[in-house]
Amino acid sequence: MPVEPPVVSPRDLSEAYAVLADGPAQPIAGGTDVMVALTGELGEPPERILDLWGLDALRGIALDGDALSLGALTTYTDIRRSAVCREHLPVLVEAAATIGAAQIQNRGTLGGNVVNASPAGDTLPVLLAADASFVLGSARGERVVAADEFWPAYRRTALAADELLLRIRIPLLAGRELRFRKVGTRRAQSISKVVLALSWHDGNQAAPWTDVRVALGSVAATPIRARVTEAALEGRSPAPETADRAAETLAGELQPIDDVRSTAEYRRLVAARVLHRLIRDAGGW
Ligand SMILES: Cc1cc2nc3c(=O)[nH]c(=O)nc-3n(C[C@H](O)[C@H](O)[C@H](O)COP(=O)(O)OP(=O)(O)OC[C@H]3O[C@@H](n4cnc5c(N)ncnc54)[C@H](O)[C@@H]3O)c2cc1C
Repeated sequence: MPVEPPVVSPRDLSEAYAVLADGPAQPIAGGTDVMVALTGELGEPPERILDLWGLDALRGIALDGDALSLGALTTYTDIRRSAVCREHLPVLVEAAATIGAAQIQNRGTLGGNVVNASPAGDTLPVLLAADASFVLGSARGERVVAADEFWPAYRRTALAADELLLRIRIPLLAGRELRFRKVGTRRAQSISKVVLALSWHDGNQAAPWTDVRVALGSVAATPIRARVTEAALEGRSPAPETADRAAETLAGELQPIDDVRSTAEYRRLVAARVLHRLIRDAGGW
């Protein structure tokens, strides 16, 4: 039987914080993950639901100094339509376009993807590779947590029970390149088997790469960075031997999961080929 817990709709952030300080309440943004879990079949339903949809303080996409700031309620459609995102972070637009279909993109939020903490959350590797950080707020004040530290274990986050995710901050660095690739059963409406984001700095195409980040989703209990592979790419140029070595290193480094969507071996092989392909595309050979 579907469960209908009481819904509280705060008018502003301080009301929302007061609700959370008063006892357990599950925030709901677009509801595309929460509603699926409200059937009662997936464990105890929440006692109360805190509806964030009316909180304008959690909306908006803007340049903030040398960073892109996205309110937690930013939907995938907002990202796809944003001239600021398209100009400064096209890789996020590309990732947003792969999520669900129009209905999910209209309602699903970036903040919901982050806090839902699914290892298959498609934007999470992009946020890791882009060195994003999350601004969290509660009645106690605000704090910032780096994406690298936000998902400590399977479906867990650094959020305390009385905190909300307010904004996602992504530094915009001159000379940084970012690439994204999602592999699923089909191109739309598909949960990823492997999702990979790659970032690096270079002065021009022939220069060696620095500050390389390789982030993956759907291959472990949390979104991860492949740090051994990152080290293997550091200081290299995107030549054929670099791609071969990086792919081999990644295949050795990953300990993918076996589950209903894919086998560990498929994930290992595909992740390595995706990385190889991204390096090849970057090198233009
Ligand atoms: C048909 C379908 C297709 C989908 N396809 C994809 C896909 O291709 N790729 C993908 O990654 N995901 C996919 N999803 C999952 C989902 O759409 C995304 O994870 C989406 O980003 C969730 O956002 P939301 O606003 O709907 O979150 P909600 O369902 O409202 O919330 C998700 C979680 O985050 C918490 N939360 C939300 N906002 C905040 C906040 N500001 N502060 C604190 N906690 C918060 C909620 O309490 C809940 O635990 C799909 C879902 C469906 C139903």
